[in-house]
Amino acid sequence: MADIVLDHVTKRFPDGRLAVDDASLSITDGEFVILVGPSGCGKSTTLNMIAGLEDITTGELRIGGKMVNDLAPKDRDIAMVFQSYALYPHMTVRKNMGFALALAKRPKDEINRKVEEAAQVLDLTEHLDRKPAQLSGGQRQRVAMGRAIVRSPKAFLMDEPLSNLDAKLRVQMRTEVSRLQNRLGTTTVYVTHDQTEAMTLGDRVAVLRSGRIQQVGTPTELYSRPATVFVAGFIGSPAMNFVPATLEEGELRTPFGTITPDDRQRRLLEGWNGGAAGGRSLIVGARPEHFEDAALEQVKDRPGPRFTVTVDVLERLGSDSYAYFTVAGGRARAADLEELAHDAGTVDLASGDPQIVARLDAVSRIREGENAELWLDTDQLHLFDPDTGRNLD
Ligand code: ATP
Repeated sequence: MADIVLDHVTKRFPDGRLAVDDASLSITDGEFVILVGPSGCGKSTTLNMIAGLEDITTGELRIGGKMVNDLAPKDRDIAMVFQSYALYPHMTVRKNMGFALALAKRPKDEINRKVEEAAQVLDLTEHLDRKPAQLSGGQRQRVAMGRAIVRSPKAFLMDEPLSNLDAKLRVQMRTEVSRLQNRLGTTTVYVTHDQTEAMTLGDRVAVLRSGRIQQVGTPTELYSRPATVFVAGFIGSPAMNFVPATLEEGELRTPFGTITPDDRQRRLLEGWNGGAAGGRSLIVGARPEHFEDAALEQVKDRPGPRFTVTVDVLERLGSDSYAYFTVAGGRARAADLEELAHDAGTVDLASGDPQIVARLDAVSRIREGENAELWLDTDQLHLFDPDTGRNLD
């Protein structure tokens, strides 16, 4: 079994920087797990500790049930694929792919067989006698993968392997990586800062921020039940909208109007507020797709608030449209909301009235610069504690 377990793993660099703070994560045999988060959150350091390229300061790392904290990288039986590919320019594809096996003094016919098998899987057979300079970016990337595959390691570790490719090729390679991992069934830990890549590739995704794992879950879990404002803002594109709200006499006063919580929300609010009277502020999150043009026939009979906005910008994408507008609501009170919003790359929450983006049906006749009535699916709202940033759910 090649399960990988991080048990309260911490990494502090000699200069005192805490790069990974008490990370616990269990990756099961054959699983494809993504580490995602903004630059500097500790993704690569985590991967390097699994590879054995960085020491672990405290905590335990187990691979296949065995503690490997002090095991040399070469004895861990895992293969790493880097962003830079790290191919040897003077060697042919065949030599590059077989290099690790040659180093391990495997017999020539075995090396040839494994290289040819991997080349077939990766569609590189025709290019085996070329040098890296004669290949496209995508092909080089595949050679780097091939080099990892021929070793039949217990696990693959991939650090942003697609980030040197252009956008179109990246999408294409994404499906190839996915197919490859399905086919080989090898435990894979994959680092990216791109949330779309994380959501489309992984069985499970671990979201990191400032060295801490914020949440681990399937893409669907992260999307529909984000544990924190940070995860909610980081996962999903366009990002979730956040607005300040107050809870008064059991009702939510929001920039979209007064919302009567449904049963689920009422339970959450009661649990959080302890039944206390008086206004208490919180953060409400609404995903772009939970808004709709209130004038549409299919929306007319739906319950829930309607509110009028002036659409600043309307982007028509064909299948749907994005409407951008501002609602009056003032500053959201959250301890570090500004930082959260910045890390997550979401709208600048703390600097004034919240900016909102709504995803509308393509048939909507809403126009830029004009007033529009929108409807909000309030059952789908997320409620966050402004002090801790945690989802009440
Ligand atoms: P990126 O996406 O930019 O590669 P990352 O999430 O992979 O970022 P890491 O490379 O793991 O982040 O770095 C985590 C933190 O540790 C960062 O603040 C970084 O500056 C710091 N760091 C990394 N390597 C060292 C080192 N050798 N000495 C001191 N600090 C380091």
